[in-house]
Amino acid sequence: MTKRLTSWVESANSAEIHFPLNNLPCGVFSHEDDDPRCGVAIGDQILDCRLAEENGILSPTDEPLFDFALWNDVMEGGPSLWSTLRTRLLEILTHGSSDQATAETCLVPQSEATMHMPFEVAEYTDFYAGRHHATNVGTMFRGAENALPPNWLHMPIGYNGRASSVFVSGTNFNRPWGQLKSPDHDHPAFLPSRRFDFELELGAIVGVHSDGPLTVQQAHENIFGYVLLNDWSARDIQAWEYQPLGPFQAKATATSISPWIVMREALEPFACDTPERNVELLDHLKDCGPMLYDIDLEVRLAPEGKSESTIARTNYKEMYYSAAQQLAHHSSAGSPMRTGDLLGSGTISGPEKENRGSMLELSWGGKEPLELDTGETRTFLEDGDTLTLSGAAQGKDHKIGFGDCVGTVLPALKDPLASH
Ligand code: MN
Repeated sequence: MTKRLTSWVESANSAEIHFPLNNLPCGVFSHEDDDPRCGVAIGDQILDCRLAEENGILSPTDEPLFDFALWNDVMEGGPSLWSTLRTRLLEILTHGSSDQATAETCLVPQSEATMHMPFEVAEYTDFYAGRHHATNVGTMFRGAENALPPNWLHMPIGYNGRASSVFVSGTNFNRPWGQLKSPDHDHPAFLPSRRFDFELELGAIVGVHSDGPLTVQQAHENIFGYVLLNDWSARDIQAWEYQPLGPFQAKATATSISPWIVMREALEPFACDTPERNVELLDHLKDCGPMLYDIDLEVRLAPEGKSESTIARTNYKEMYYSAAQQLAHHSSAGSPMRTGDLLGSGTISGPEKENRGSMLELSWGGKEPLELDTGETRTFLEDGDTLTLSGAAQGKDHKIGFGDCVGTVLPALKDPLASH
C-alpha cells in the first residue's frame, strides 16, 4: 500500500485530512473579489493554478491551460497531460521543493474560498448499478422473486438525465412540485413532493471524447476522475411517471456534486475487482482489471438548526458494474461521448440496513421511520434538512478524500407558476 507523501504545506501531512499530497483533487474557487479560477486542494489550502501558471511554475503545455475557470480544457488533453500535470504538481508541493517560495504566494485557505462548478457538464447519465439497491427497491415494488429486472445481470441500466440541473455542493433548492397520484384517487394532483429523497452515488467524469463503441479498457482510460454525487429524487413523482420510459421529473430538480474531482490516478492504489458474478457478462462488458475503488462513504442528515446524525455508511466497492463498464455500455450503440459527460454510478447500498444509500431503502418505503440522534424520526426528507455525503479511500497513513457534498431542501414555492 502506498505511503503518504510529505508536503511543505504542513496541514497536508496528517492521517485524517482528505487532501494529502497523494490526492491533489481539482476544483474551481473564488477568493474575495477575484474571478473564479482552477485550483488544486492541498491540506487545508488551495493552490491557485492560474496564478501558478502566470508565475511560471505550472506550465504543462505551451498554451495557457488555466485561463478558463473550468477543468474541461485539462480533461480534453487526455491521460498523458493529466499525468504530466500531476507529476508537476507533486514536484511543486513536495517537501523541499525549489518552487516553494513562489508557490506559497499562490495558496488560498479553503476556509476563505467559495467553490464553484469544477467543470462544464456536457451531458448527465444516471445508472442503476448497485445490486443491493436494485434488489431492495425491486423487492419493495415487485416482490423478492422479481426484484432484479431480467436484463439487470447482463448490462448496467441507465437513463439520460439533465446536465442543466447538476449543481455544485452548497447549492440549495426548493422542494419540487409534480404530478402525484395516490392509489385511492382516480386522478393525479399537482402538489409539492411528499416523498423527497437523496441517493448516495459516485459520479465518473469522461475526460476524453470518443466516437463509436469503446472497450472497457478504453473507457477506463478515458475517465478523468470522480466526484461524490447526490441524485435527489422525488419518489412520489417517480412512482406515477416512471412506466414505461423511466424517471423524468422525479430526477430533474437537482443533482449535487462535490466541488473536488479526485483524479483517477489518485484512486488507482485503491482499485479493486467487481463482485463475483453468477451470470457471465458478454465480451464487450467483461472485466479486464480492477476498476472499482475501495472508497468508504457516509451520509449525514441535520434537521434545520440541529446537529447531524450519520444515517448510512457504505463503500463504492459494493457496485456491480464499474464506471468503465458503464461508459463502455453507454458507447456501445455508437453514441459519441464528450469531454465533461457525467455518469452517476447508481445508488451505493451495502448488504446491511445501515449500508442503505437512500431514504427509500432506510425507511423501507416509509414504513420503518429512521430515528436520528436528536430523537426525531424521518421517513423521507423534510424542509430544512441538510444532507451531507462524505467519502474517502483509506490508506495506511492517509486518506484520499472527496470532501463533502452538501445540500439543503428548502420549502416548496407557494405557487410555482406565480412568476410566469
Ligand atoms: Mn440515481
